[in-house]
Amino acid sequence: METYDVVVLGAGPAGLAAGLEAAKRGGKTLIIERESRPGGILKQCIHDGFGLIEFKEKLSGPEYAERYIRMVRDKNIPIMTSTFATKVLKDKDKFIITLVNSNKGVFEIESKTMILANGCRERTSKQIFIHGSRPSGVYTAGTAQYFINILGYLPCKKCVILGSGDIGLIMARRLTLEGAKVIGVYEAKTTPSGLTRNIVQCLYDYDIPLYLSRTITRIIGDDRVEGVIINEVDENMKPIKGTEKLVECDGVILSVGLIPENEIAESLGIEIDKFTKGPCVDHNFMTLEDGVFSCGNALHVNDLVDYVTESGRYAGERAVVYAKNNIEKNLVKVNMSVNDFLYVVPQYIDITSNNKKVVLYFRSREIRKNVVVQIKYDNKIVFTRKYRVLRPPEMQRIELDLTELKMSKDKDFCIVMKEGQY
Ligand SMILES: Cc1cc2nc3c(=O)[nH]c(=O)nc-3n(C[C@H](O)[C@H](O)[C@H](O)COP(=O)(O)OP(=O)(O)OC[C@H]3O[C@@H](n4cnc5c(N)ncnc54)[C@H](O)[C@@H]3O)c2cc1C
Repeated sequence: METYDVVVLGAGPAGLAAGLEAAKRGGKTLIIERESRPGGILKQCIHDGFGLIEFKEKLSGPEYAERYIRMVRDKNIPIMTSTFATKVLKDKDKFIITLVNSNKGVFEIESKTMILANGCRERTSKQIFIHGSRPSGVYTAGTAQYFINILGYLPCKKCVILGSGDIGLIMARRLTLEGAKVIGVYEAKTTPSGLTRNIVQCLYDYDIPLYLSRTITRIIGDDRVEGVIINEVDENMKPIKGTEKLVECDGVILSVGLIPENEIAESLGIEIDKFTKGPCVDHNFMTLEDGVFSCGNALHVNDLVDYVTESGRYAGERAVVYAKNNIEKNLVKVNMSVNDFLYVVPQYIDITSNNKKVVLYFRSREIRKNVVVQIKYDNKIVFTRKYRVLRPPEMQRIELDLTELKMSKDKDFCIVMKEGQY
């Protein structure tokens, strides 16, 4: 059986960066990808705006992916494409990974570590309980994007978009450019879910209306969508009776959230964070299962691909350190207030780790203006940053150096947010 130091699941930007870093640091590495080509979701993102942090350039998704694919190929790191990982089992200090592809059928490989870089999936109409029949013409935004950008089909001519997530916003513009009429984007919350730059560049620039505090309560049509019923919603996002409005359309595009792909993590019994829906990790990007790492959108849904790449790089580096040294861990929880934060990643700090650099990613629960975010250890402030405004769609990043801290397990490590102190 072929044996590796690091096996990376997924050849999206997270997996490519993880594989590249692991190989650069001397780990025998293999990247597994279920699709026929590497690049992940970036293959279908033909708009620009990728790579501003990573390459200081505005690249399209395929261009960004291509740069990493080239770097991986230049290092002769194998990417096994059209190969699906169906099962992972831990056997003492190694993992047995069951793979399937059309060349070899079902087969197994072994690895000292695994990096879960298998991305996220979109929520569907079933998950948000829309009533009505199930006609054709209802797509998630990513599927509509795949139809237009990869297959060259226009999935509808006159549509509504439900949810103001970034992919939906980008698709509002894309459908308009391809000649479809986008009647409006309907969002149940009182504030948009997508990045401000996408609201401006994808809706306002094209006169596409954004309707807040509204949702679709029924889809009408038997074979094909003929319309939707839109209702206003109250502060608990419950539809308000008597506000029903019929909107005729032949397509419904759903942009109602992304969820990390965590089947493999769950099958290994790895603790999943109820806020991110991805695995809990320590600051080395290792999950609570020794030897399993997680990065990119499989860990938590990132807003920028540059951060996806960054997390992949760290996971790759630390997986090799683990594969070669099999280090013992001692974890301290990163505490947060759920009233202030949607989530914080990593969820733990490994106080025995030689790596003293911590990168924390967080999102605020609501829009907060003029706030101070502090990291406290043993009630002492070790980091402070002021923010003029924090919005849930915009992920924040904090870098910490723990070298000076003599950490022990019984002391509290927490992140706090205070208002009115800008
Ligand atoms: C529509 C859309 C627009 C976006 N626009 C922007 C933007 O403008 N700017 C920006 O910075 N970011 C943008 N992003 C975000 C960016 O594309 C993602 O953050 C990034 O692609 C996530 O990378 P990833 O490697 O974690 O996951 P993915 O790109 O999803 O890659 C995961 C890979 O894992 C593979 N995989 C999954 N399970 C298995 C398995 N069991 N076996 C083998 N392989 C498996 C999948 O096939 C996939 O190739 C956008 C995302 C989307 C969806």
